[in-house]
Amino acid sequence: MIARVIVEIGVGLNREFDYRVPAALAGRVKIGARVMVPFGAGNRETRGTVVGLPDGAHAAGDKRTRAPGAGSGRMLKTVLSVCDRDPLIQPRLMELARWMATYYAAPIEAAVKALLPVAVRDRSRGVAEVWMVRLADAPAISGCGVCGAKLTPRQAAVLDWLRQTGTSTLADTARGAGVSTATVRTLARHGRVALFRARGALPAALAASVVAPAAPPELMPQQQTALTKVLQAVQRRALHVLLLHGVTGSGKTEVYLRAISEILAEGGGAIMLVPEIALTPQTVERLRGRFGDTVAVLHSHLPEGDRYEQWHSIRQGRARVAVGARSAVFAPVHDLRLIVVDEEHEPSYKQEECPRYQARDVAVMRGRFESCAVVLGSATPSLESYYNARHGKYELIEMPHRVDHRCMPRMQIVDMRVEAQRRGGGLSVFSRPLIEAMRTRLERGEQTMLFLNRRGYASSLVCPACGFVAECDACSLAMTYHRSSDTLICHWCDARSRVPDACPGCGDKAFKYSGIGTQRVESALAKICPKARIVRMDRDTTRAKDAYENILGDFRQGKIDVLVGTQMIAKGLDFPNVTLIGVIQADTALHMPDFRASERTFQLLTQVAGRAGRGDVPGEVIVQTFTPYHEAVQAARRLDYAGFFDREIEFRRELAYPPHARMSRVIFSGAKESEVAAFARRAGEALHAALSSRATMVGPAPAPMARVRNVYRYHLMARSTAAAAMNKALHRVLADLKNPRAINVTIDVDAHTVM
Ligand code: ADP
Ligand code: ZN
Repeated sequence: MIARVIVEIGVGLNREFDYRVPAALAGRVKIGARVMVPFGAGNRETRGTVVGLPDGAHAAGDKRTRAPGAGSGRMLKTVLSVCDRDPLIQPRLMELARWMATYYAAPIEAAVKALLPVAVRDRSRGVAEVWMVRLADAPAISGCGVCGAKLTPRQAAVLDWLRQTGTSTLADTARGAGVSTATVRTLARHGRVALFRARGALPAALAASVVAPAAPPELMPQQQTALTKVLQAVQRRALHVLLLHGVTGSGKTEVYLRAISEILAEGGGAIMLVPEIALTPQTVERLRGRFGDTVAVLHSHLPEGDRYEQWHSIRQGRARVAVGARSAVFAPVHDLRLIVVDEEHEPSYKQEECPRYQARDVAVMRGRFESCAVVLGSATPSLESYYNARHGKYELIEMPHRVDHRCMPRMQIVDMRVEAQRRGGGLSVFSRPLIEAMRTRLERGEQTMLFLNRRGYASSLVCPACGFVAECDACSLAMTYHRSSDTLICHWCDARSRVPDACPGCGDKAFKYSGIGTQRVESALAKICPKARIVRMDRDTTRAKDAYENILGDFRQGKIDVLVGTQMIAKGLDFPNVTLIGVIQADTALHMPDFRASERTFQLLTQVAGRAGRGDVPGEVIVQTFTPYHEAVQAARRLDYAGFFDREIEFRRELAYPPHARMSRVIFSGAKESEVAAFARRAGEALHAALSSRATMVGPAPAPMARVRNVYRYHLMARSTAAAAMNKALHRVLADLKNPRAINVTIDVDAHTVM
């Protein structure tokens, strides 16, 4: 028996080697199993993964030591041992890895590596398990759920403590409630709390819902229709992709939960992808609240032991629903029937390191290998997905109404050029309409969210006399001024410097702050509304552990009147008392050198608007902008996704941008600019000759981020309607070119960022 193995000796080998399997190991060497093998001239014991089991005739051998011409199994080295009791990787996931390696032009080792979380891959020792306690999913009755006996004060103290703290270790619970562990165990026997073994505590935000789950609501007609279509797709047991286009608050998540609940009832499993776990705690809470420990959370911020435990609970079939960010698309769920990609338009589904995969697209491929349904859900679908739906590749489901037919918030566009004129020039943070609207909210005791796609006090330091802009020496990009520390910070390489006293360009002392940052919004607001309780939420204020959860908790409890934030607050959060959203500068995203700039702006405005009026009071959205007539702004105001799509798709068609063509980007980087430029040119010429007439190439040119951490970057773009052929050509030409050691070449298939 022969095993085809990829070895873990750094990524980039991109080769498979054959080994003989001794009879004693024959039963355990399976596809996906990890094995120890001798490798290289020194026969160093190396770990590898079995990717195939060919018969002896095709054996290729460890080529470095194989005798020339030898093709028989006798010359092969031998597998030494098998690492895991069961293979960690299922054969279908191995197929998926092979597809990724080919499609994304990545070494096979990198693709296989992506299948396993680090905590699983690199763990050798076990982690001690402890007893954990959480509230049972029981209705809020005052006595025992089983025998009806009244709770003792001690037992009540335990429940109170758990309600406040969430899932905790047994020891912590007893200590916190001031009782003995016997009291907690008694409660467990009476079904009021659940005891389980785990490796340490889940962070509060991810622990099973602290609130006893409410009965699932009765579905609205549009939800019922959507659910029926999803379940029909699930029943087919074949790849079927649905695009669920539902406005924010239309009840999409509830549809996912119902579908998953049906699948669980039939013994199947599901995966739910969310853009970023930390930004979607409520979705995770709802899943765990509804399905308890059947849900495993795959989250890179979990302690290592938890990540290990959560992953294995799926692998072993104890958990049947996996929820997580993009890498959860590889979760080894048993009997997979459905993959949900929530907020499918989110750029965070694209991994920006090798293998540079797009998890939404991988989800569809996985659906093909697993023969299961895939639901892509969004209020603002990516142009790619909606295009596929329009062309019949995906089934389109529309949910145009909000739950309970609440009104979509009214969006008002404020022309900041007019505002500036009225004030006699100068950049103001708040327009008059926004100030008025905020004052009204404060009087009524309602909440406001202010949104800004930037952090820092002012975005950049500009000299009004000579136009000098303070730039980072290493990155050639404008630096951000942070008032609290009186420093300039480069947000790409983290370089910091003091603010100069006078303009380095002309010596003028009258420096002017241009642009607006979250700190400036906060301080300007404090002047206008001195009594308002204002909290700022951005990467600077959420560095501390749990800071994010704490701020949101305070906001939910009404301890904050105005929350000022970056795009962090634009995502799936749901606050019923927020009735006003202000967008300070809608233009920031429009001025990026990116063909998706309009799409991103439209998505951002629509998503932000969805945060207003989630409760009983209708919401209002005020958008401040210097380009009020831009289509992205106007379509967002009209809540007109289809209208935006029709115009934008025309623009993309004219310029042959995705989704009309596929785009791949090649990035060249190195320490010496002249070398990088020269090699990029050479590669460009070779590619130009190799690409078919169906492909267009732009560049090479210095990338917009021309210099990052003292590395020079050049790039080129290739677009084609025949993507596979184009990517193959790119891959071949770049592999054949002898690139100098000092130059790094990256192919980014279906690139998302063009910086
Ligand atoms: P979306 O995912 O489209 O933003 P959700 O599923 O989160 O929408 O629903 C928005 C809110 O409405 C949530 O608070 C949810 O609990 C509630 N909800 C969803 N469906 C119903 C329903 N059929 N009846 C009552 N409330 C519902
Ligand atoms: Zn820098």
